[in-house]
Amino acid sequence: MHELAITESVIDAISGQMSEMRVSVVHLEIGRLSGVLPDAVRFCFELAGEGTCVAGARLEISEPAGTGTCRACGAAFTARDPLALCPCGSADVTITGGDGLRITAVEAGHV
Ligand SMILES: [Zn+2]
Repeated sequence: MHELAITESVIDAISGQMSEMRVSVVHLEIGRLSGVLPDAVRFCFELAGEGTCVAGARLEISEPAGTGTCRACGAAFTARDPLALCPCGSADVTITGGDGLRITAVEAGHV
């Protein structure tokens, strides 16, 4: 379950910058092609957040669709899963977005 390691690194990154703050909301972007399960991250966030500045914080996750370009026909298209096919039927595609995880915003107030 690599979501736990991912979630811990997210919490570490926030704790490093927000140690004097009480975090109320964390906004995460988890691309649909990232292979990361948002529900698992939610679960790990509650567990791993215990005793840190994100304890009790709400997690807002957005899941942008992936994007790719086709090397066969040159089309740019939306990819819904990691085994993306171009609408032309080619599997020779380059994934250009929606395959990462990032913190988009953190809402916090002073303790
Ligand atoms: Zn194509």
